[in-house]
Order: sequence, then structure tokens, then C-alpha cells
Amino acid sequence: MKYFSVPADFKTETIDRYEILNNTYDDSRVIESYGNITVRNGFESGRSVEQLPEVDWYELENYIAYSKQKNIDFNYTINSSYMQNKEFTENGILKIKTFLKRLYEIGVDSLTVALPSLIELIKSTNYNFKIKASVICQITNANKAMSFKKMGAARMVVDESMNRNFKVLERIKNVFGDYVEIIVNPICFKDCIYRMFHYNQISGDSIEVSSQASIEYYPHRCVLKRYENTGNLLKLNWVRPEDINYYSNIGICHFKLQGRHTVLKGDPVRAVECYAKESYDGDLMELLDLFDPTTSFRVSIDNKKLDGFIKPYYENENFCKNDCSGCNYCESFAQKCIDHEKANEVIQLAVQFYNDYDRFKEMIAAINPAKVDNLSEEKMDIGFDL
Ligand code: SF4
Repeated sequence: MKYFSVPADFKTETIDRYEILNNTYDDSRVIESYGNITVRNGFESGRSVEQLPEVDWYELENYIAYSKQKNIDFNYTINSSYMQNKEFTENGILKIKTFLKRLYEIGVDSLTVALPSLIELIKSTNYNFKIKASVICQITNANKAMSFKKMGAARMVVDESMNRNFKVLERIKNVFGDYVEIIVNPICFKDCIYRMFHYNQISGDSIEVSSQASIEYYPHRCVLKRYENTGNLLKLNWVRPEDINYYSNIGICHFKLQGRHTVLKGDPVRAVECYAKESYDGDLMELLDLFDPTTSFRVSIDNKKLDGFIKPYYENENFCKNDCSGCNYCESFAQKCIDHEKANEVIQLAVQFYNDYDRFKEMIAAINPAKVDNLSEEKMDIGFDL
């Protein structure tokens, strides 16, 4: 059996489509959608507010009630890596507990959480929320999984970087139990140095965006990193619908689709159906973006030509050593499934665009030595006298 957790667009029509999927596929079930309010929201999550559907309390309550009628749960995301330390002040705790009470009263019974301090706080209440440890917890091994389990997490999402390390996944499953979930459509670079810092930036921008430079910096650096060579696209930790059986074989049956930022223009239902069918004939990158047509500079990968790509990872525990300087596996496989002429055209345009429109670099350059010298004439609190 395959269980899916999907990003909410907060539309009842979409819940109706998930219900049809649930009635069509005997071995697949959409068990929940997830998301958070964006109107009058005081609590951080794992997505920038500007990327999310506009949802207030009233709409959320109605959506949850409708979903439950269709036997689909809702999981509320309160999974930032930083909450301005609200949880360490009495006033902050009061606000968090009041917020949790409201969530409980409108029908929320499960939460996705990242901060251990917030998990402890939630467990101290009487609301009996089921807690899912977020991917932001960066659970990369059995010991970390066990720690979150002891803390009270009933479900957990594995760090995406482990998606192709089947022995690690198996060990995590063995200690944590059945409720281990993996994200099937990550678009993050495998060994990305930006990951933790991107999570923190998102936390800061999840209620109110600080600047355009902030919301562009990590996604644009991510594209530039990916496009250093086409083989990098095969190192994004995605799971093809055809390869789901490798995960079922080791007892993993919970799968999450990320992409809350794509739900309004994309088609998450179509994406889930590909995973339910375990087959998809088309461009893998479109599937990973949940068929959002607005994604720019997309390089196509012929999904069917990736047959067999994941097999050596499954068969050999140490197949990927995370040292591409001595291994050409992904790059040579990319030759078979990517049209390199077309890909290079897209890559050149993307690199030029992101280098030409780099607001962070522009802002750094704008604060020139003359401005720094003139600071003494301005009143700025920088912690020392000028
Ligand atoms: S080390 Fe080899 S298998 Fe691992 S990501 Fe690099 S090229 Fe791919």
C-alpha cells in the first residue's frame, strides 16, 4: 500500500479529485494534504509566504471540514527552523498555546514541526496532536530518527539527501517503525551547501518577506549550481514513479509530494496519479514541478530513459560516495536521457539571466565605500560608536 501526503491548494474541487483517485487505485491512498494559513499568520513555517495560496482561518476551517468528510486529513505546517525564539519567552509560549488551541478547535489534529523545543511545547498540551518531524529536522540516520521518536514524533520525513541510501532508509525504518515518509519530488541539489541556510531564510520570510533579494538568493544560487553540468540534474534525489517499488521493498510506504508553491498553477493530482500508477511517460522535471507550467529555464529529462538508473544504488550500499570527482555515473547516464544541445541552450540563458539579475550582488555593490564612510552622519545602531 502507498500513502501520500500532498500540498494543499485549499480547494474543495481538488479534494474531490483526490477522492476519485482513492476510489480508483486499490493500493494507493491520499491520506492528507498539508499547509498553513497566510492571512493574519503569526507563526513561521517552511515556505515563504509569497509562494503560498492566500488562506485565512475561516477558509482553513471549511477546507478541513470538507476534507474530513472525504476521509482525507489535514496536516498543519508549523515547521520553521527558527521562530524568533518566541518559544523561549512566557509571552511567546502563551501566544503559541493560544494558537494551538485555535488549531485544535477548527479540526487540526496533526502538525508538521521542525523545532525540538516546539515539539516539547506541543507535547505539554492536552490537544493530543499527532506530530510529524519535518524534513527540516534533517534526519539522516537511525539515531536521529530514534531521538525524534522518543521526543514524541509519530511520523517523520527523512532528509532528502538519504533518498538513494537504501541501507540508511532501512535502518531508519527499523528503529522508527512504519510511519517513515520520504519526499519523492525533491528538486534540491544532493550535497547542497545552502540547505540549512535556505531553511533559515525561509523561516524569516514565512510570515513577511524581508526583501526580494532574500527570496531570490537561494533559489537562484540553486539553479546556477544545478546547471554547472547536466549530470547534476540526476543528483537531485528524486524518486521516479517507476522506482517506488525499491522503497516498498524495504518497507517504506509513506510518500510526500513537496511543492506548495506550485499548487495554484500546477496539477498535483496528476502528479500523485503518476505515483499511484508507478509509471510516467514524459519530462521528469515537469513531474517534479507538479506540472507547474510557469517554471522557467527547465531542462527536460526523458523519464522512461532513466530506467535502471537507481538500481546500483539499491544493490550496493556504498555505490555513491558523494565524491563526483572520482565518479562519472550520473553524468554518463545524463548523456542517455537529456538532449544536450537543447539543454545547453537553456542552461546558457539561465546562467546569463541569473548573473545579470542578481539583486543580492546589486545591493552589496550599492553599499559602496563612500556610503560606509558617510555612516557617521547617519544614526544607525551598529553596536559601537563611530
Ligand atoms: S559520486 Fe557518482 S553516483 Fe554519486 S552523485 Fe556523484 S556521480 Fe552520481
